[in-house]
Amino acid sequence: MGSKCVNTGELRQAIMNLSGEDFKSFLFKLMLKKSFAVILSGILLLSISTGCQKLEQKNQTQPTSPSPTQTPVQTQSPTPKQTPTSTVSVHLTLGNPTNAGSAPDNYLMVKPQYALSYNRDRGIPNWVSWQLNQSYLGDVERQDDWSPDLSLKEDWYQVRPGDYRSSGYDRGHLTPSADRTRTVEDNSATFLMTNIIPQHPDNNREVWRELEEYTRDLVESGKELYIIAGGVGTKGAIANGKVVVPQQTWKVIAVLDPPGSGIQGITENTQTIAVIMPNSEAVDNTDWRDYLVSVDRVEQITGYDFFSNVPKFVQDEIERRVEGQPPTDQSNCSPAYPEVCIPPPPPDLDCSDIEQKNIKVLQPDPHKLDRNKDGVACL
Ligand code: MN
Ligand code: MN
Repeated sequence: MGSKCVNTGELRQAIMNLSGEDFKSFLFKLMLKKSFAVILSGILLLSISTGCQKLEQKNQTQPTSPSPTQTPVQTQSPTPKQTPTSTVSVHLTLGNPTNAGSAPDNYLMVKPQYALSYNRDRGIPNWVSWQLNQSYLGDVERQDDWSPDLSLKEDWYQVRPGDYRSSGYDRGHLTPSADRTRTVEDNSATFLMTNIIPQHPDNNREVWRELEEYTRDLVESGKELYIIAGGVGTKGAIANGKVVVPQQTWKVIAVLDPPGSGIQGITENTQTIAVIMPNSEAVDNTDWRDYLVSVDRVEQITGYDFFSNVPKFVQDEIERRVEGQPPTDQSNCSPAYPEVCIPPPPPDLDCSDIEQKNIKVLQPDPHKLDRNKDGVACL
């Protein structure tokens, strides 16, 4: 508490510290001088300090109770609490990978079509996140109405579509135009420059596009996806340094079964797809599957935390697998490889099985298979 509050414990201790003699003379002087002023001020001091004590106790027992008249103040806490972002936007159901808020380099923008963290100083988003299922797919034409994002703060530079001209880089969509074809408004939203990064044509028009098409194939087969994409690193800048060109592009996808299941739809068996691709001609004539990595790897190179609204033990499972890679152990357990997800039943063998079928027993039960009790199985 502040220094204005007198600690009653200290006051009591000070009185106790007076020797018997001192205390008696103290009282005597008080009575003699009829010093009511002293007594009064003593009472005043005590009442102030007990008042402070009550306030202290109240502060200790109810540190965060919100009252309707009081604005909840952000207290410094050793473990920063995750904002419940799923209530902010359906596109953040699985989490806000950078806990984006109001900082200029991590500025949260929520639109009906997608959510993103904008980086004013890089002139590109850190990431864009969107839900994808059949309800977003219709037959609206590609609008191509590129536009600066006027919802950015007034005094921030608003990247213009012309800033990419003659740069050698495409205006690369993060939320693809073809993922938002239900309404003209939805499709136009994907042409806002806050959804765009400078993307090498070989990346944008080949491997990246093929992965986008693959995700829509999954949606056509009835899946619901949560997709987060962005660029990482810096290989240069365009627009007089106002727009950074990322070194690599990355994408993280969670593939859920029935649409509308929300965060409950994610389990340890949920399929994930993650890629990191060079933002250069190096990807020419390659397959997007050549760039498959674990979600953990993308977290490592970006420093972000994907799926942060998902229980930690589930994250641990689904983030360490690499899609399409044959499993070597439980670490790659996924719907594609159910045999590693469910441990095989223990073999109920006897020695004749082992002899007749030539079955290799790695760890025979010594009691069950040791016929002559010599400590060696099946001899
Ligand atoms: Mn594209
Ligand atoms: Mn994570």
